[in-house]
Amino acid sequence: MKSASTLDVLVADQQDLPAGPFSSWVDRTLAAQGTRIGADVPCGSCTACCRSSKFIHIGPDETETLRRVPRELQFAAPGLPAGTVLMGYDEHGQCPMFVDGGCSIYEHRPRTCRNYDCRIFPATGLSPDDDDRALITEQARRWRFDFRSALDRQKHEAVLAATDFLLEQTASLPAGQAPRSSSVAMAALKAHGAFLEHDEASGETRPVSPDAETVRAALSG
Ligand code: SF4
Repeated sequence: MKSASTLDVLVADQQDLPAGPFSSWVDRTLAAQGTRIGADVPCGSCTACCRSSKFIHIGPDETETLRRVPRELQFAAPGLPAGTVLMGYDEHGQCPMFVDGGCSIYEHRPRTCRNYDCRIFPATGLSPDDDDRALITEQARRWRFDFRSALDRQKHEAVLAATDFLLEQTASLPAGQAPRSSSVAMAALKAHGAFLEHDEASGETRPVSPDAETVRAALSG
């Protein structure tokens, strides 16, 4: 039998996590892409993505990050823009910059890490790919979005419709993006507006079924 304190820790670990109102989360997530600030994820004590056997991309413009990652940990990234490097993981699946339970270069962590938000999985109904491992899957399952407003529900329907569309038509994904769960999920967020139509006269927003060209335009916008 487990002691009360161990049980308390287990229960706390498995609690639902408030993910916030869906609509504003989508807007903030899209606005954060590519910025230095990155996604504002209330990770708490979770470090799952630092311990999930992930290859981290570092762009050639991330000079402060590249300066802090030892050269012997930087590998050329095939198929990505010149100068982009990959950082691998150790035999335990941990990022080599993960030291003493935390990121040793946190202030200068790669853009990939700043932008990573595992709420993209519950938002789209997708599961992390196999190589994302169980830690991220577990954490992603705990998020609970708030769907109180009509806009929250409409945007969610649009994100789900965009996800289905992109899973069926992977050729619509931006060039160079493999049809991995995380890239499909981010593309679905970006394209979701094409699955909604706002009628100025009535003030109503309703779902629509765009063609592939419209979706591609939304993705490249
Ligand atoms: S660089 Fe830092 S934030 Fe990114 S995976 Fe490694 S330890 Fe985690």
